[in-house]
Amino acid sequence: MKRILKKTALFTVVVFIVFALVASNGMTQRTLSTQRLPIKNCSNLPANQPFSQPCIETTTVSTSPTPIFLPSLNLQLTNQQRFLTTITDKLPIIPQAGTFEYILLRAYGGAFVNHAPAVKLPPKVVFTNEQETKKYQATLTLSKVNDTNECYLQKTAADAFNQARSQVHIPLKSGYGPSDCTRSFATNLRFWQKYADSKTLEKVREGIETAILGIVAPPGSSQHLWGLAIDLYVSNQAQRQALSQHGWVQTVENDMPHWTYIGYPQEKLTEFGFQSKVVRGITYWVTPL
Ligand SMILES: [Zn+2]
Repeated sequence: MKRILKKTALFTVVVFIVFALVASNGMTQRTLSTQRLPIKNCSNLPANQPFSQPCIETTTVSTSPTPIFLPSLNLQLTNQQRFLTTITDKLPIIPQAGTFEYILLRAYGGAFVNHAPAVKLPPKVVFTNEQETKKYQATLTLSKVNDTNECYLQKTAADAFNQARSQVHIPLKSGYGPSDCTRSFATNLRFWQKYADSKTLEKVREGIETAILGIVAPPGSSQHLWGLAIDLYVSNQAQRQALSQHGWVQTVENDMPHWTYIGYPQEKLTEFGFQSKVVRGITYWVTPL
């Protein structure tokens, strides 16, 4: 018993040291493993179900295993710490507070808590050009959403969406089209130029313009580039419930048609530090940054 207490105390101390370093440096590389938690075998889980907790494939042989943290283990963490702890194995470099990248992480970074094993997150929050975007997109396994015209998502996200849609009819925003689903850098740029310009981008970079982020994503930063977002026409509670049950939630404040595949039902999100924000009757799950 004494030994366990000692271990727990040691773990708490190590966790606080890690966060002290994060806070003092602002920028941190991948957090070092402080404690390995039991690895849950994902292969036994029913396909396409949202996972109740992060899990990794045990079949993968790795000399330096990726640490998995369960923020709920330490109730003393702030929401921000919980969130950053959860995404630390998914986003190699956490942007420094106050930077353009940090602003984008705040607006669109909710998807980084997704720990479904086949889901691939981007290596950074903003791609600089088409080439870089394509290089990442080439690594994705995409799948077409049933009964759509060229609407592609990452396979896990598409499967989860198809399941939600088998419970209740959920139309795409445009009705059928590819622009609601995975987009190219060029499409992201074209949408941006429709609503904003370089002056707007400068204001976003300075942190004085945030409302535009709920209307259109700056070039290279849209969740639609990641194959984990879809624009829908949702009009009732049954649709919302089916989407949440299958890991689809609204993470971008004020972007009414926009849904993000996060891999967890919304009830789970406070454990990762998310805050719910109701705007005009719609609940958005925003990052605590
Ligand atoms: Zn969208």
